[in-house]
Amino acid sequence: MSAVERFGNTIFAEMTELARRTGALDLGQGTPDDPGPPGVLERARGAITEGMNQYPPTRGLPSLREAVARRRAADRGTEYDPEREVLISFGATEAIASALLALCGPGDEVVMFEPFYDSYGAGVALAGARRRVVTLRPGPGRFVFAEDELRAAFGPRTRALVLNSPHNPTGKMFDRRELELIAALCVEHDVVAITDEVYEYLAFGDVPHLSLAALPGMRSRTLAVSSAGKTFCLTGWKIGWLCGPAPLVDAVHAVKQYLTFSGSGPFQAAVAEGLADPGPWLGPYREGLRRRRDLLAGTLAEAGVRCLPSQGTYYLQFDTRSFGYDDAGEFCRDLPRRAGVVAIPSGVFYDSADTGRHLARLSFCKSEATVSAAAGRLADFA
Ligand code: PMP
Ligand code: GLN
Repeated sequence: MSAVERFGNTIFAEMTELARRTGALDLGQGTPDDPGPPGVLERARGAITEGMNQYPPTRGLPSLREAVARRRAADRGTEYDPEREVLISFGATEAIASALLALCGPGDEVVMFEPFYDSYGAGVALAGARRRVVTLRPGPGRFVFAEDELRAAFGPRTRALVLNSPHNPTGKMFDRRELELIAALCVEHDVVAITDEVYEYLAFGDVPHLSLAALPGMRSRTLAVSSAGKTFCLTGWKIGWLCGPAPLVDAVHAVKQYLTFSGSGPFQAAVAEGLADPGPWLGPYREGLRRRRDLLAGTLAEAGVRCLPSQGTYYLQFDTRSFGYDDAGEFCRDLPRRAGVVAIPSGVFYDSADTGRHLARLSFCKSEATVSAAAGRLADFA
């Protein structure tokens, strides 16, 4: 059996198909209803008309690499040379998979927190490596992990750590103290960190998004990944990027060349324009998301449903035991027909069978009308 055969269809494909078949309100896959910044869409149309339709350079259009480097410097405090230290990828997914393939081989171990985004498991398996998982558990106001569990996950075979913050599906934002511990362990064990920051601009509370690369000793051992999908509501464009020290970026580029070579020239040009000044778009967009999160969480809480804290991303988890279901998988497969709503069972993001068994995830990046109607249906069903 090949490394990924046992993974089968992703939960997103399964639940999106269920939404299509049943006509239920789809709060499953994280695909935003908002159309994205008009200027960025217009620039993509212009780039196609201008004829930017052939292969861009494998490292990405210089204009986009420069825009990424400027944003990282301004927003995260880390400087990168756009020539050698920035790589444009086919979404964050390709950047993460290429990084895992570049760094890891059989016998190597990769530390990650569960629940974890499904592509990390597949990437580690494709590399022939093994994952070591540390569990995030709900605490007051935020998800937390046990320091001793994280320490125990590191060992002589640890080659890489994957860190996702803001975190899908919990909405957790890792704070400075947590990042300092992670950084200290990466330095002590000579481990490279791959940071998945695709939700970097979707943080709602007082905890700002911090990039692990900005901590002392980490720039030289971090591959920082992000993408335009969540920031600009352009998930189908699949424009991602990775920043890090030149030798590591060279290694990832070597893999990336043989996966997709390069792609999406007009969309790269448009995202470069969007990154130049994302503030005017992001402020109202983020505020709208916060409102929808509060509407959803408030309606569910009023109906007696236990919701888990979400500090960022556009996901909210709840406990399906509030609906009399011990198994969120069963709940999510029944829900479209019984209540006309689609949710994602969080158990698929866990290795440990029991921890996420009764958690389900809702995406609140849908229109306010859809979020409100779905919240009402869930409340009636509770
Ligand atoms: N990482 C996380 C945590 C995600 O939720 C997603 C979902 N889009 C991705 C990576 C993939 O990003 P992209 O579409 O840019 O490949
Ligand atoms: N990131 C999206 C989510 O978590 C899904 C992306 C995908 O379908 N691969 O909903």
